[in-house]
Formats: sequence, C-alpha cells, structure tokens
Amino acid sequence: MGVVISKSGKAMWPDGGDGEPVTKLDLAHYMEQVGDWLIEHIRGRPCSIIRAPDGIGGETFFQRHAMPGMSNLIDVMKVSGDRKPYVQIDRIEGLIAVAQIGGLELHPWNCAPDEPDVPGRLVFDLDPSPDVAFAAVIDAAREMRERLTALGLESFCKTTGGKGLHVVTPLKYAKKDKVDWKAAKAFAQGVCQQMAADSPELYLINMSKKQRQGKIFLDYLRNDRMATAVAPLSPRARPGATVSMPLTWAQVRSDLDPKKFTLRTTPALIAKSKAWADYGRAARSIKTAIGKFAT
Ligand code: ATP
Ligand code: MN
Repeated sequence: MGVVISKSGKAMWPDGGDGEPVTKLDLAHYMEQVGDWLIEHIRGRPCSIIRAPDGIGGETFFQRHAMPGMSNLIDVMKVSGDRKPYVQIDRIEGLIAVAQIGGLELHPWNCAPDEPDVPGRLVFDLDPSPDVAFAAVIDAAREMRERLTALGLESFCKTTGGKGLHVVTPLKYAKKDKVDWKAAKAFAQGVCQQMAADSPELYLINMSKKQRQGKIFLDYLRNDRMATAVAPLSPRARPGATVSMPLTWAQVRSDLDPKKFTLRTTPALIAKSKAWADYGRAARSIKTAIGKFAT
C-alpha cells in the first residue's frame, strides 16, 4: 500500500497465542486484511490511538491529537472547543501508517461521520469485576439487547479483546431523528440504571470499584461527545494479541472464548463471518426510543 514499515521485524506482542511474536509487519498486514471492514466504523470520526512503539511490554501512550511529522495518510479533524486537531483515519493506508508508528489500538468517538456533535451509536460497556464468570457477561449482553429491542433499537455485540463485552447500537442521525449528546447519555444511563435496579445482585452503574465485587458494571459513560470505545477489529495492546471481535448473536453463548480472536486468527474468521452484516441498515431513531422509555 505504499507505506514503508521500518523495523518491520520488531515484536509488538511477544506471543500471538501461538508462541510466535506478532511483529510490526504482521500488524500492518492485519490492518491491510481487515481494513475494509474496520474503516467504516472509524471513518469521519476523531480516533485516538494507543501507541506502544516498543511493543506491549514497553511504554504506551494514548494519543488524541495530531502530532508534527505524522504521515499525511493519517487525517486530522478540528472540533469545536479544542484548538488542536484530532487524529482521524479515513482510509486503509492510514491504518497502515498508524501501524508504522506503533499504534496498536484504535479508539474512535461514537459520533455520526463528520458530525462530532451528533451521536451516531451507543456503546454499552459491560465490565465484570474479576471474580465474575464470563457466562454472566454473556447473559448481561443478551439482556441489554432485549431491553434495547423493546425500545425499538437494534444492537450488535463484540468482544473487547479484554475481559468484557460491548453492545453497540447504531442510531439514525437525520435531522428528525438526532439528539444531542446530553440526551443520548441520559438515555443510555437510564437503560443501564433500570437494568441494575431490576437485578441489583448482578449489576451496578456506580463507578466505585469497591462496590463492584461480584458484579458487572454497566458503563454508559462511553456515550458522550469526547468519550471513546475501542473500534471493532481493533487489536488490543494486551497479552495474547487479542482483538475486539464483532460477533453474531448466535455466537454470544456460554462457549464463547474471547481469547481465541487474535491478530493471527481474525482475518480468516471475519472473512467468513456474518457478524454485523446488517449494521449499515440497522440504525434506528433514538428519539423514538427515548419516547418509549419515558412511557
Ligand atoms: P475490557 O473488556 O477489558 O473492559 P474495554 O475496551 O471495555 O475492555 P478499557 O481498555 O478499560 O476497557 O477502556 C475503557 C475505555 O476508556 C475505552 O473505551 C477507551 O476508549 C478508553 N480509554 C482506554 N485507555 C484510555 C486512556 N489511556 N485514556 C483515556 N481513555 C482511555
Ligand atoms: Mn469495558
């Protein structure tokens, strides 16, 4: 794709789940293979990157803003309220350029493309405390989906590449359907609050780590103008070279093992998967949902 990868043999992950290191060139090839799929979910939105120039064992930093000397394959985006332009990635070559600078994770805003002030999707981040079985997170994702369906919203599930799951709800953003971030966040909070109130022994919406023991934190805070969530198919700078894997709801079952989705295994798996196939047609009106929720 015309991007020079320097130190291409450098190990970004010491072990890709198969005992072999995942190199910077492997990362670039991964981005080339999944780029068409991935780019739709980040294009037109500011996108922070987690960089680990010396691999996941070295120093990592969360980069929001454009930096001098950045490749012109990586775009920049000015948003109101901040003088400094944000990183934005609008084409696959940009993903490769991000790999070249040791960018391992992609964290876009959840706005509509090219409209930073307009919510384009909701992300419900299900965060289990360490003593919670993964099966309980699966139940939580399914319950969240049912609640959203009842409000007229479609949802999609992905692994995070870490310990939880994300439930993502695409929103219509035409003039008659759109709301501001304040309303979207209040709605997401309301849905989570209701779910936690119905099963207080399983869920909570309180940030406090102390109270989380044995429970799943329903994190609605991804739903704000400048808040981010890891992109579908983004690698994670974590042991095992896992990625945030888009799933079909049929896959969201008790035998689901998030660790098997790695930079190594994912390109072949996503090529034959139907996960998120309807995403582009699934956007629904949050305005209608807010109306239903209030009654
Ligand atoms: P898990 O399933 O393990 O919880 P996750 O992606 O939901 O995975 P985190 O990695 O804890 O959880 O990230 C939580 C959120 O905070 C993410 O949505 C991410 O966009 C954001 N984030 C991550 N790292 C930083 C950072 N250094 N600074 C600001 N925001 C961050
Ligand atoms: Mn999480």
